Amino acid sequence: ATPTALLVGTGRGAQLGILIKGPEVLESTRRVDTVVLDKTGTVTTGRMTLHEVVPADGVTEDELLRLAGAVENASEHPIARAVAAGAAERTGTPPAVERFENVPGRGVRGRVDGREVFVGRETPSGGERQAAGRTGPDGPDRPGGPDRPGGPEGPDSRRGAAGRDGARDAVGPGDLPARLATAKEAAEAAGRTAMTVVVDGRPLGLLTVADTVKETSAAAVAALRELGLTPVLLTGDHQAVAGSVARAVGIDEVIAGVLPEEKVAVVRRLHAEGRTVAMVGDGVNDAAALAAADLGLAMGTGTDAAIEAADLTLVRGDPRVAADAIRLSRRTLRIIK
Ligand code: ADP
Ligand code: MG
Repeated sequence: ATPTALLVGTGRGAQLGILIKGPEVLESTRRVDTVVLDKTGTVTTGRMTLHEVVPADGVTEDELLRLAGAVENASEHPIARAVAAGAAERTGTPPAVERFENVPGRGVRGRVDGREVFVGRETPSGGERQAAGRTGPDGPDRPGGPDRPGGPEGPDSRRGAAGRDGARDAVGPGDLPARLATAKEAAEAAGRTAMTVVVDGRPLGLLTVADTVKETSAAAVAALRELGLTPVLLTGDHQAVAGSVARAVGIDEVIAGVLPEEKVAVVRRLHAEGRTVAMVGDGVNDAAALAAADLGLAMGTGTDAAIEAADLTLVRGDPRVAADAIRLSRRTLRIIK
C-alpha cells in the first residue's frame, strides 16, 4: 500500500502544479518547522523597472544612464535588465563595454569610454555584515576570508588589473554625497533597491529599481503559519528593502545582506539551531541553499540551476503552492502510516 499512497501523493501534486523529483522527497517534509523564502523572484515578481535616476552634482542623468546602462547591458540579472532597458529607452543604444565582470551579490563592473564603471551595492571596507543588522551567517559555518568567490586567486587578480580589486568600488554609505545618501535611504525605506554608480572611484549617482511583491505572497505566508511553520525572508538585498517586503507579507524574521555563497551557510546555521528547513528560491544564487535544505522548493519561473537543485518545483511560481506541497506531503504520509 505504501508505494500506491506515495504515487497518489505525487499525482495530486501534479494537479496542484507541483513537480516532485521522487516520491521519497515527501518523507523529508515531515519535520520541517522553518520555511526560508528568497526575496527576489520568490516573494516578489522579480520583474523590476528603473524607478529613479539621481545624478551627483555636475553630472547629467543621461551621462549616468549611458555609463550604467552599458555595463548592465552585459548582465542577465533582473536589476541589470531593468537598468539596461530604462537606459536604452532614454539614451538609445549603449556604448560598448570592455572587461565586463559580474560580481555576484554585489553588482557589475566594466570599462566604458575608457572609464572604470561599477554599478551595485556599496562595499564598505569591513563593516558590511554588521551594518545591516542581523545579516549574513555568523555561526561556525560562516565562510571566512575574501568575500568574493575565488578570493585572492580569483579572476580579478589573475587579470592583474591594478585598482580593480575592491578599492575602486569601495564606496560606502558614508562616502555618498548627502543628497544621494538621502535619496538612497528614502528609496530603501519604500522597499526599492538602490544601486550606486561608481566611476573611476567616485560616486556618480544613484539608480533605484522597483520590484513588486507577488499578489499571493501574503496569503502564502499566512498558509505557512497555519501549518505551524516559521517563515524567514532571506536576501542579498539591503536590510531596509528586505524589512519593507517582510512587513508587506507578514514575515518577522529577516536575514538580509547575504552574499550568494553565504545563503547555504544560513541554512546550515539554522540546522545548527536545531531547525528543519525548507527553502524556497528561484535564482542561481539559491541553488546551493536549495540543495542543503531538508526540502528544496524551486519556482518553476526561476532558473534551471534552482530547479535542478530542488526537490520540488512550484510550476507556476506561486508561493502559496509551497504550503500546498507541505500539506500534501503530510497528508500523504498520514495515509501511509
Ligand atoms: P537576492 O538575494 O534578493 O536574489 P542578489 O544576491 O542577486 O539578490 O543581489 C544582491 C544585491 O546585489 C542586489 O540587491 C543589488 O544591490 C546588488 N546587485 C546584484 N546584481 C546586480 C547588478 N547586476 N546590478 C546592480 N546591482 C546588483
Ligand atoms: Mg532570487
